Amino acid sequence: MQNKTILIVEDEEDIQELIKYNLTKEGYQVHCVGSGELGLQEARKSLPDLLILDLMLPGMNGLEVCRQLKGDSNTHHISIIMLTAKGEESDIVVGLELGADDYISKPFSLKIFLSRVKACLRRKQEETSPEQTILVFQDLEIQLGRYEVFVKKELVKLTLTEFKILEFLARKPGWVFTRGQIVDTVRGDGYAITDRAIDFQIVGLRKKLGPVAKYIETVRGVGYRFSDI
Ligand code: CA
Repeated sequence: MQNKTILIVEDEEDIQELIKYNLTKEGYQVHCVGSGELGLQEARKSLPDLLILDLMLPGMNGLEVCRQLKGDSNTHHISIIMLTAKGEESDIVVGLELGADDYISKPFSLKIFLSRVKACLRRKQEETSPEQTILVFQDLEIQLGRYEVFVKKELVKLTLTEFKILEFLARKPGWVFTRGQIVDTVRGDGYAITDRAIDFQIVGLRKKLGPVAKYIETVRGVGYRFSDI
């Protein structure tokens, strides 16, 4: 198996060392830098599979690094997990809108940290494999081309908007999306969809999904994610 490369951009040395040690132990090739400028420079040079990006950095902050990498066609494919502190919810939203893939709030448990990293890299791999036509999660089956959803083998009738939201979230389990990102994917149905309307749609969707509604998780202050863990 080819070793995945991870770049850590974090100025706090103890956190840097802790995650470097544990990611290396998991078999990843890990490189660390302590500032946004160096992170940007190193990411452009080495094109890692994943960037662990602290938002609060001296000099150029994490959001700016994210903006520059996701806005450049040479580097936009690099997955980014943001490291955030308490109270940075609006920064998380901005980061996700800029294209970051996930975030982890400090302080975090190592177990959760490692599982998020694995999930992020796994999704990346699946994304580059051929188009799947059916998504299956235990009692939930989503037939993409046919716009059909089955819960415990029973067909569930969804509206097109509900289906699109479910498909969008379920294609990337574990990834957090803001309401704005969800609006962007379901737009074009002939009527305006607002952030509020997304919440309304989610309520309806969960009701119809019944026993498997738990898959659609609310991420407070941020948005929603499909959680199959
Ligand atoms: Ca920091």
